[in-house]
Amino acid sequence: MNKYLLLGKFSFGMGDRFAHQGKAQLQACVLATELGAEFIPVWNKSNREHTFIGTEPSSLRAEADAAVAALGWKKPYHVDADHIRLETVDRFIAPSDFFTIDVADSIGKPASPADVKAFADRHPELTGSVTIPHIDHPFTITRAEVERVANKFLLAVQDAGKIYRHITVVKGAANFITEVSMDETDSPQTPPELLIILAAIADEQIPIQTIAPKFTGRFNKGVDYVGDVPQFEKEFNEDLAVIAYAIAKYGLPPSLKLSVHSGSDKFSIYEPMRKALKKFNAGVHIKTAGTTWLEELIGLAEAGGDGLEIAKEIYAYSIEHVDEFCAPYATVIDIDKAKLPSAATVNGWTSQQFVSALRHDQKNPEYNPSFRQLLHVSFKVAAKKGDRYLNALKKHEAVVAKNVTANLFERHMKPLLLGKA
Ligand SMILES: [Zn+2]
Repeated sequence: MNKYLLLGKFSFGMGDRFAHQGKAQLQACVLATELGAEFIPVWNKSNREHTFIGTEPSSLRAEADAAVAALGWKKPYHVDADHIRLETVDRFIAPSDFFTIDVADSIGKPASPADVKAFADRHPELTGSVTIPHIDHPFTITRAEVERVANKFLLAVQDAGKIYRHITVVKGAANFITEVSMDETDSPQTPPELLIILAAIADEQIPIQTIAPKFTGRFNKGVDYVGDVPQFEKEFNEDLAVIAYAIAKYGLPPSLKLSVHSGSDKFSIYEPMRKALKKFNAGVHIKTAGTTWLEELIGLAEAGGDGLEIAKEIYAYSIEHVDEFCAPYATVIDIDKAKLPSAATVNGWTSQQFVSALRHDQKNPEYNPSFRQLLHVSFKVAAKKGDRYLNALKKHEAVVAKNVTANLFERHMKPLLLGKA
């Protein structure tokens, strides 16, 4: 296997669309570490986000370095080129040391029949009864099934290999972490499929440390998990068992772990995840993105005055453009338009009303998931406001930072590693 930069056992992916909350985000890692729940911070930003906001990947590196210097963080930290492909990776290579290679577009495109046959020939251990420790019943996998799965995923894995080698040539294998993501596709990958995919990744000599499968259920933006929690729990446990098995069987990096592209705030699966990670003594990478942007809005609304005013303006523009903003995210949002308050209603709200509707507190009867999801996908509106938005963030930095830190620490890191109570 090739060399690689080691990723710590627990790592937390943080998105920061406007690049002003690096310190507040890192502070959450500081607080978690003080409690014995060490999270390695990873700042992630996708090509799509950079394009929407008009930023360059080097700005994320600058933000991470500045936050680390300001807080005196002595542990590792990373900058993730999130969801990159061969055609988008180049501007990310210098400033990033974590690459999320997105091969979802190649899933389902058939691989060459000769490659599929060679794969199945090379892996007789995948055919028949496959016994994996900590999975109750052995997987029964026919040769035809191995070929079906290989046909569906082999081209995607070969693409990942091409992108990985492209980065290696420029950066050197020892200088970065590799993630392969398959989450942005139609159907979830089953644990036996994950095993076959990992065998193929090992064949490509990719020293993968995080893999992001698509899990069962809906991972809508900024709101809780929608789906069958016991089924998720069963698959998550089986995925952990498959990963432990594949590390030993195929010589993959011992640090290989699941990456959960959460879409932020999947609170109801944190406890089943925590229990499973403990059972397997496994690490995890949890990737969040829009949750910090929403905390900025909450902080501005809480500040009142011109902060609340700009938050209301952003909502008013969003609801006028609701179809346009929601279209690109159709598969990852469930907005009930009947539950969206009118701009006039929101314009009459107090700070407390705006904050209650937006903050992800399911115990608060005023919390409105449709309102929250619409604002989640409306960050372009704030980007359009340019300096006016950024100046508001600076002016109200204290109250915004307080919300950003408390959200990551109290609602995400503590439940994930320490349990609720
Ligand atoms: Zn993703």
